[in-house]
Amino acid sequence: MEKDERDRLEAKPGKKNNVKDFSTGYDGPLIKAEGKELLQRNVDRLAKLQDLLYAHDRYAVLVVFQAMDAAGKDGTIKHVFSGINPQGCQVCAFKQPSDEELDHDYLWRIVRQLPERGRIGVFNRSHYEDVLVVKVHPEIIAGNKLPGIFDVKDVTKDFWSERYRQINDFERYLTETGTIVIKFFLNVSEKEQEKRFVARLNDPAKNWKFSSSDLKERELWSEYMQAYSDMLSETSTDYAPWYVIPADEKWYMRYAVSQILVERIERLPIHYPEITEEKQKVIEQAKEELAKLIG
Ligand code: ATP
Ligand code: MG
Repeated sequence: MEKDERDRLEAKPGKKNNVKDFSTGYDGPLIKAEGKELLQRNVDRLAKLQDLLYAHDRYAVLVVFQAMDAAGKDGTIKHVFSGINPQGCQVCAFKQPSDEELDHDYLWRIVRQLPERGRIGVFNRSHYEDVLVVKVHPEIIAGNKLPGIFDVKDVTKDFWSERYRQINDFERYLTETGTIVIKFFLNVSEKEQEKRFVARLNDPAKNWKFSSSDLKERELWSEYMQAYSDMLSETSTDYAPWYVIPADEKWYMRYAVSQILVERIERLPIHYPEITEEKQKVIEQAKEELAKLIG
């Protein structure tokens, strides 16, 4: 991917970022067949990189997906990570928090699902729901038993600034202790979402994907876009930037996500452990013993 193109997809750290300034469609030079071929190449590359990550055993990679409904999180995860050894990868979907989860701080359930060193963890929704759906519906917070928050009126602007700061601190800590954080916002247009909802309603095989609450959230589109813009402005950092991926063309979205992942992981100083002289001797000895056993 050309540097220009990648720059356009990145939400600039420390700057005001507005969802409106990012494309939802793709009109670049790549054609669909090429995009699919490049995706396949990246899928293979990711499998090799994960193997290396595991052998090196110093870093974990956390990949976060956020999006409006029907933007294509599930399909993107399915296609991009399809080549990875299942032992090297874990996917976690975050739904409405359970009672037990609500009895803890909002990062508790997130921390419990972080990938081990050597593995890739994929979050289908994440701690960002706590500054997205929760910001659009602040009444949720009033029920969260937080100190000092008894009513929607207590959820002030400062409350949100503090929460963005907490998320940034958390991600800085993760990065400094070996978990690389890569965040994707799949940016679908209102029009394309409508098309996909209609398809879900009209195709019996897709009916199960439809939920009537999706329509209710769609009515709050501009509130969501404001929450996404704030999220991009406040939590795109040098150490954990947001990538805003056009989602109206599924093939381009999948290619772009895979490309950014490959580029980011390739930048890590990872290598297979060197075989020491001592280890080499042990291997030679084992070979001899095995040869004797076999005869
Ligand atoms: P699908 O493709 O299956 O619809 P989904 O991710 O939309 O996947 P759902 O069960 O439909 O899954 O929705 C999960 C819901 O949980 C979303 O509406 C999301 O906003 C909500 N949710 C996630 N985290 C939180 C949170 N911390 N507080 C409140 N709601 C949350
Ligand atoms: Mg849903």
